[in-house]
Amino acid sequence: MAKAEEIENGNGFKMGDPYYCKECKRNHTKGKIYKEHLNFALFEDANDDDIEDEGNELNYDDEAELVKAFHEIDDEESTIEIENQLEDSIYSEDEDISDNRDSIQDCINAVKKLPGVGEATLNKLIKAGFSSLESIAFTPPKIIQQESGLGEKTTEKLIKSSMEILNIGFKSAEDVWEHRKNIARITTGSQELDDSLGGGVETGSVIEFFGEFRTGKTQIMHQLCVNVQLPKENGGLEGNALYIDTEGTFRPERIIQMAEGLDMDHKKVLKNIIFGRAYNSDHQILLVKEAANIIKERNIKLIVVDSLIGHFRSEYIGRGTLATRQQTINSHLHDLLRLCDIYVDLSIVVTNQVQSKPDTFYGNPLRAAGGNIVAHGSTIRVYLRKGKGEQRIAKIVDAPNLPEGEAIFSITENGITD
Ligand code: ADP
Ligand code: MG
Repeated sequence: MAKAEEIENGNGFKMGDPYYCKECKRNHTKGKIYKEHLNFALFEDANDDDIEDEGNELNYDDEAELVKAFHEIDDEESTIEIENQLEDSIYSEDEDISDNRDSIQDCINAVKKLPGVGEATLNKLIKAGFSSLESIAFTPPKIIQQESGLGEKTTEKLIKSSMEILNIGFKSAEDVWEHRKNIARITTGSQELDDSLGGGVETGSVIEFFGEFRTGKTQIMHQLCVNVQLPKENGGLEGNALYIDTEGTFRPERIIQMAEGLDMDHKKVLKNIIFGRAYNSDHQILLVKEAANIIKERNIKLIVVDSLIGHFRSEYIGRGTLATRQQTINSHLHDLLRLCDIYVDLSIVVTNQVQSKPDTFYGNPLRAAGGNIVAHGSTIRVYLRKGKGEQRIAKIVDAPNLPEGEAIFSITENGITD
């Protein structure tokens, strides 16, 4: 076997071969998922001296190799790693987490009380990540079966009982109205943009920001991660954020600038953002599934996926793969929508690149990558384009209850403003 260092830059090495991972500066085995790369990281301490705007260059060094490696992983191995990760994340030494153990235990106890759930079934469910009634009630039966190994009948019964306990079924319009009255909003930092969104980014929906490169999509994602932490009277939700980065463009130094712009303690702000880097589409899907397990324990009120489609676009190339690609994106989006249904006080924002310059497009100029599936899956869509200098223009499209208006906002050193 070659030494890992020797093949650091070599191409074409096989599954099981060692290689040197520049990211964590250790030897890895090709094809294996590493916890360090799967785990959501916590930004605890930022080095103030390091603040500089690195720009937004895509960080694709070494990425092609990682993408290939992760793509070839067999399912079993990745499942095992995730189980380990789940255990670690639940039982880590972190003090903050210990507070959450009680609430996790409450969820598990509720599952334990479901009719027909014995020790063995409970173990299978927990190992597969179904540790709450909500996760059982909202997951399609096929997926529960596949991931837990439980039979069809058992799965059906579990889902039915969970739904009964959670009181899910037909509701009157009045109930829906009651539910919508509880919708809260996160300020974007721009009054105009907030107004056009009906008061900010709302909970209970997936909101898609799409536009060309450098139109401010990633900046808005950063800003929302800061703003969600604000007190309610200042436009926040007093909650934490989960950032799934598929492009390598998350910059803690930008968070620091934005936090300081709002006179917030940047160390706390960073600590309250949980970060996961998705190296390929499979990995991205896993991170979202995994997210369901930490929303409650980490008081997550905002999930960011920046960007939603990038990996799918680069991995599924050619006409023959289109159907599979759309199906996979569709199911990924439904994972996200399901989270919004389960957690009413959760807001999900995703970004999407436009395929071409809108003014050179025939037909609908506001077409986002991913086609109709993304358009139908996300509940509110915001199209971004460049204005003069630091100005950007946002246009609300396809929102069920908002007028199609335009808002002008700016991206400054301190973040998004009017
Ligand atoms: P994308 O839509 O591609 O995600 P971004 O959200 O990364 O675009 O926006 C990039 C733009 O944000 C830059 O072109 C710049 O105008 C602005 N920007 C980034 N960092 C700063 C900063 N520190 N101060 C002011 N503007 C910034
Ligand atoms: Mg971006």
